[in-house]
Parts: sequence; structure tokens; C-alpha cells
Amino acid sequence: MTQHAEFDVVVIGGGPSGATAAWDLARAGRSVLLLDRAGRIKPCGGAVPPRLLEEFEVPQSLLVARARAARMVAPSNRAVDMPVGDVGYVGMVDRDVFDEWLRARAAAAGAERRTGTYERIERDSAAGAVVCYSTERGGALHRVRARLVIGADGARSGVARENVPGAERNPCVFAYHEVVRAPATTPQGFDGARCDVLYQGRLSPDFYGWVFPHGETASIGVGSAHKGFSLRGAVQTMRRDLGLGTCETIRREGAPIPLKPLRRWENGRDVLLVGDAAGVVAPASGEGIYYAMACGRIAAQSAQAFLASGNPAALRQARRAFLRAHGRVFWILGIMQYFWYSSDKRRERFVAMCADRDVQQLTWQAYMNKRLVRKRPMAHLRIFLKDCAHLLGVPRPTVEGPAA
Ligand SMILES: Cc1cc2nc3c(=O)[nH]c(=O)nc-3n(C[C@H](O)[C@H](O)[C@H](O)COP(=O)(O)OP(=O)(O)OC[C@H]3O[C@@H](n4cnc5c(N)ncnc54)[C@H](O)[C@@H]3O)c2cc1C
Repeated sequence: MTQHAEFDVVVIGGGPSGATAAWDLARAGRSVLLLDRAGRIKPCGGAVPPRLLEEFEVPQSLLVARARAARMVAPSNRAVDMPVGDVGYVGMVDRDVFDEWLRARAAAAGAERRTGTYERIERDSAAGAVVCYSTERGGALHRVRARLVIGADGARSGVARENVPGAERNPCVFAYHEVVRAPATTPQGFDGARCDVLYQGRLSPDFYGWVFPHGETASIGVGSAHKGFSLRGAVQTMRRDLGLGTCETIRREGAPIPLKPLRRWENGRDVLLVGDAAGVVAPASGEGIYYAMACGRIAAQSAQAFLASGNPAALRQARRAFLRAHGRVFWILGIMQYFWYSSDKRRERFVAMCADRDVQQLTWQAYMNKRLVRKRPMAHLRIFLKDCAHLLGVPRPTVEGPAA
């Protein structure tokens, strides 16, 4: 047995999930190594709810823009604006600055930061996992020992693939965006305080396209799981149609977004997955930053229980606790994506539904609060009946309840 530096927890990946888990564990007095591959900005629209800032003590100064409305665009080009109202805003973060801030915070709490690429886990006669990483391509391997390894290395995670059976089969949407210098406005109405979401089969046969304002820049992107669909071509079309074709392009980049939580997040021994590596991105919206951080926090709690007891069963609690908190929202969004994103006819009806004030209020409240609001049962009933009417193709439902 060789002597290696030893940590309670080695967190592999310094995105929102890994940096949050490392922060919580370091604050709790655990010895933590946060290992992150350097040099790449995570491709991301960067939209976050205000709740993320409150729950994870992230300062407002990290927001580069606040959107006060979303514009939903149907296949016919009919646009429905959904003002957020006084319940909040959609915040925008630039991932290079945001992720680095989260990593620095974890380090300030006591986590040791190292730059390197995870290669594999080795086993020897001693307890714990030996994490092997490299600091340059083809270079020598460095080794550290961990009582627990947290795999936070994103979608198509190497930690998941090698340690958790079935992880490699998790389906993904591929998302691609272009970061452009934002204009003040365009004849088509670009607005630095509005998110545009385009539901058009020509731009995405199974997901959506977006324009998110980021202060001096904007993210213009699309997602699709269809192999062979040209995401670049779709973004070119969007840019041309929205009058953003001549804006300076700063970056072009893409990455997979997992479509559903993995069935298992742990290896039954000493590896636990979090964030995209565990598949926790909200269906239909593709929102993953908040859920990655929520997952990182829950994983840190399970890690504490595991380190205290030595019982690997404690690691299974992470998935259970996450799904208890967010499973219902994921389930509903999954059905929405399956149903409403499947044809232009349905997309047209979906956008028409977004003109409804009840739908708007409940959508924003669910987004802001990250749970389903139970306070307005009559509004839910109205939406349900309107939803049924839309499904059946009845244009104007006649049932109205008393004001909720
Ligand atoms: C184009 C696009 C747009 C999106 N837009 C939004 C949005 O607007 N709002 C939203 O909420 N979500 C959005 N998402 C989803 C969101 O980006 C992810 O869900 C979120 O980043 C997941 O966080 P994470 O920490 O789990 O993983 P990641 O953010 O992917 O972080 C993984 C980390 O692991 C590191 N890493 C990877 N491999 C290794 C290795 N071998 N060794 C060491 N380190 C490694 C990486 O460097 C990275 O720092 C978008 C995704 C895409 C692709």
C-alpha cells in the first residue's frame, strides 16, 4: 500500500453541484479536495431563479441581468408575453464568473482546490478509493485517497460511467448556443430585460430555442435530442429572424443536458453522483443550475451520514431526499415536454395557453419557489379544465370558478 494524501471527501468537478457539496462539507469541518478540470467555460444560458440566491447565499452582484418577462413564441410566430409581476425576476449569471465564485467560496471555507482531470479510481488493500488524476494530457498520474468520492463532473460523467452501472445509458438533449454582443434593441424587438423562448419545430423538433439577455452579451441557443438535426443551422435561422445575425459572435459552444435522474446515484460503497452527473435537470425547461446546487447540498448531508456511520446505505438517501423534494415537479415537467413539444399543432396550443393569467401566475410561482403552490386550488382547477379543453381542441372553455 502506498501512502497518498488522504481526504474525507474528494469532489470531482467544480460546477454548481460539486462546489456546493464541497462548500457545505468543508464548512462542516470535513477535509475536502475539490478537483476541477481547468480551462473551459460551461456552455449555459445562465438563467437562475431568485430562490437560488437566497437559499445558497449567492450575492446579487453576480447577476448580469434580471429578466422581468418571458416572451413565448409559437410556430405561427404568435408571441405571448408573460410578465413576472411582483413575484420576482429571472436572474442571469455568466458561468465563468459564477462557477469560479462558488469554487473560491468552497476554498475559503477550507476545501483544498486542485486543478486536474479525473482519470480513474483504483483500489488497494487499504480502505477508501484512490482517485487518480492528471494535470496535463498524457502526463503522470497523481493519486489521493478518499473515504468518499463525489462525482460532480457533469453530463456524460466519467465517474458515473465507471462506477455506477447503467449511467452510460442516460438519455441527453444536446444544447448549443452562441454568445453574442447584445444590441440595445433590434427592429424585431430585442429586449435586455426579457427572455425569449421559441417553440417552433423548425428550430427544435423536441425542445425549444432561447434568447437570454446577459447585460452586454446575450445567449442564443437551441436544444434537441434528434441526431442529425442541425443545431448550428437553427441558431443561424433564429439570429437572422430576430435581427441578431450581424451582432459580434463571442463564443460558439454546446454540451449535453441529461433528460432524467439516474436510477442509482451511488456504487453501494463509496461513490456518490450529483448534479448533471446524476441526471438532475428539470425536463421541459432544461433548468439545471438550481437543481445541481440543491443536489450538491443534499449529497453533502448524505455524505456526512456516511462518514459518521461508515454505512454505504446512507448514500442512497441522497436520491430519495432529492426526489421527495423535487420529484413531483420533474414528473409534471416530463409529461409537459412529452406532450406539448411533440408537434407544431400542440406547441401552438401550448403558447396560446400561456396567455392565461392563471397559467402565468402559477408558472412563475412554481419557477420562483421551486415547488407547486397549493394555496390556490380554484386556480389549479381552472387550469386543469382549460388544459383538458386545449388537449381536446376546444378553443374556449366555459367553466370559470370563483376568484381564488
Ligand atoms: C447550452 C446549455 C444551456 C443551459 N442553460 C441553462 C440555464 O439557462 N439555466 C439552468 O439552470 N441550466 C441550464 N443548463 C443546464 C446547466 O448548465 C447544468 O445543469 C449545470 O451546469 C449542472 O451543474 P453541475 O455542477 O452538475 O455540472 P457542470 O456545470 O457541467 O460542472 C461539471 C464540472 O466538472 C468538471 N469536470 C468535468 N469532467 C472532469 C474531469 N474528468 N476531471 C475534473 N473535472 C471535470 C468541469 O470542468 C465542470 O467544472 C444549460 C445547459 C446547456 C448545455
